[in-house]
Amino acid sequence: MVKVIFNKTLAEHANLKDYNQAQTLSPPSYTLPKGLSSGGLNMGYEAIDRHLGLPCEDKIAIRWISKKDQVMDLSYRDLYQQTSRFANLLRQLALPTGSRVFSLAGRRPELYIAALGTLRAGCVFTPLFSAFGPEPIRSRMEIGEANLILTTRSLYRKKLKGWWNELPHLKAVLLIDGDPGNEPGCFDYPTMMAAAEDQFTCHPTHAEDNALLHFTSGTTGKPKGVLHVHQAVSHHILSAYYALDLKPDDIYWCTADPGWVTGTTYGIIAPLCLGVTMIIDEAEFDAKRWYWVLQDFHVSVWYTAPTAIRMLMKAGESLPAQYNLSALRFMASVGEPLNPEAVEWGNQVLGMPFHDNWWQTETGGILIANYPSEPIKPGSMGQPLPGIEAAIVNQDEDGQLTVEQSPMQVGELAIKPNWPSMFRGYLHQPEKYQACFVGGWYLSGDLAMKDEDGYFWFVGRKDDLIKSSGHLIGPFEVESVLMEHPAVAEAGVIGVPDAVAGQLVKAFVALKPGIQADDELQQQLLALARSRLGAAVSPKEVVFRTNLPKTRSGKIMRRLLKARELGLPEGDISTLESDEQ
Ligand code: ATP
Ligand code: MG
Repeated sequence: MVKVIFNKTLAEHANLKDYNQAQTLSPPSYTLPKGLSSGGLNMGYEAIDRHLGLPCEDKIAIRWISKKDQVMDLSYRDLYQQTSRFANLLRQLALPTGSRVFSLAGRRPELYIAALGTLRAGCVFTPLFSAFGPEPIRSRMEIGEANLILTTRSLYRKKLKGWWNELPHLKAVLLIDGDPGNEPGCFDYPTMMAAAEDQFTCHPTHAEDNALLHFTSGTTGKPKGVLHVHQAVSHHILSAYYALDLKPDDIYWCTADPGWVTGTTYGIIAPLCLGVTMIIDEAEFDAKRWYWVLQDFHVSVWYTAPTAIRMLMKAGESLPAQYNLSALRFMASVGEPLNPEAVEWGNQVLGMPFHDNWWQTETGGILIANYPSEPIKPGSMGQPLPGIEAAIVNQDEDGQLTVEQSPMQVGELAIKPNWPSMFRGYLHQPEKYQACFVGGWYLSGDLAMKDEDGYFWFVGRKDDLIKSSGHLIGPFEVESVLMEHPAVAEAGVIGVPDAVAGQLVKAFVALKPGIQADDELQQQLLALARSRLGAAVSPKEVVFRTNLPKTRSGKIMRRLLKARELGLPEGDISTLESDEQ
């Protein structure tokens, strides 16, 4: 059964690293999926079953910290038993393989057990952000044809009750904290789990069977349902090994919520396949708490996002100085361009740089990275992973694609299709899926440049590119310069129409705490940008805001800043999180 260790003292936590070191397994045996004896492939099997009978069976797979700082450990064997119970529970509810299992919960162990149990049962898992309101939940469950949703009583009451039984495909609501009362179709998770068998033979899925359905972040428009198959696991494992440097001895913390793809690929699947100990913190971001987690839980590899890094920078340098972060050996970032300023801050304040890497919901895993074995170029996304072919392409008016051969040409970032974790479709949008593949390349929708050493540099999303007096301006370049000013916490840049120039650059800036927004600072920022970028590219206007509109996955929604500026409809804002004027 689950080992529960409540309120461990600091000294007790300190044993964790030694414990892991005693369980060292050689990395090469972990970098390829094992596969099922039937010849099939199953992500859940690779994450759990393959460890059974090996020394790491009793190792801590998940060390979970509750909002109230209680700690609960699940070994790989515990996870096997718990996910077996969940898979049996799905069978009891008569959900056949291929059924869609949704979760709507915070980062609690039941969510992770459900994800892995679903995969092992041969069903398809879809996590939703627990902070979504009823409408985004409903639309995603409708599009995704959810058959079951796992949630808590309170989320059920606030967000599902009253409409869920109108969804034709939904058969059951499973309540994590039990007590479904007389609600038809609602089931008691604790009772059902306790009664279920703790053994389950992984369903013999094939490499091309659906495994995960993820919704994109909705940064550029309505979120798309992205389908991934079990085959993706081979890239999950290898990319975590190459780009995150994950080794079985590591204590690893991925701060992403499973509500978006990073929190699943690198917050559930890849680390478990590689046999590491994974830290999960239920609580939301808090600078002090994060340093506490890094210190007390001896995190050695840390995967986070630019927004979080910028918030840590905002909290100042004296805070981390109060913590012992000596266990930390590797830090990586994803989700948005990482300003060179942030890479350098990591180096100076935390003792090592952040390694930026690039991927999308569609790519299923990291494709381009500043990986550990190569020098970092701050501000670049890094180089393609082994086996990944990336290029900068441009399309002429007839749709003919040219691959840019000379360095530093701006164009669309394109990938040679058929990397293992490539998405297999946009749900119900086959034409949209087909349209991503042109002339033998997958077109990412992001603009970038490739330098003479083969590093890729993010310019902006195709939709965000600014054209001013014949210049093409990527918002990232301008934002990075504004970030260099010590008063600036975050910056978002858009193009606004101008009769003469076509578009002019306008910047929205949030300041660090305690800094007064005034005319003088505004002039300083304009002057800084002018001196670094030249008059043609630098912003003509700087507007101060408390923070910038962001998606729940932490991406600045420039399209929203722009829509408001132009008085246009805001479009789909179901993933909007922070947004204070
Ligand atoms: P939508 O497709 O719904 O507009 P989204 O593209 O933000 O949302 P995700 O798949 O979560 O949804 O995000 C992938 C995008 O995030 C990439 O296409 C890119 O624009 C951005 N991104 C991710 N990592 C990086 C990075 N290291 N540098 C720059 N941009 C990045
Ligand atoms: Mg996208």
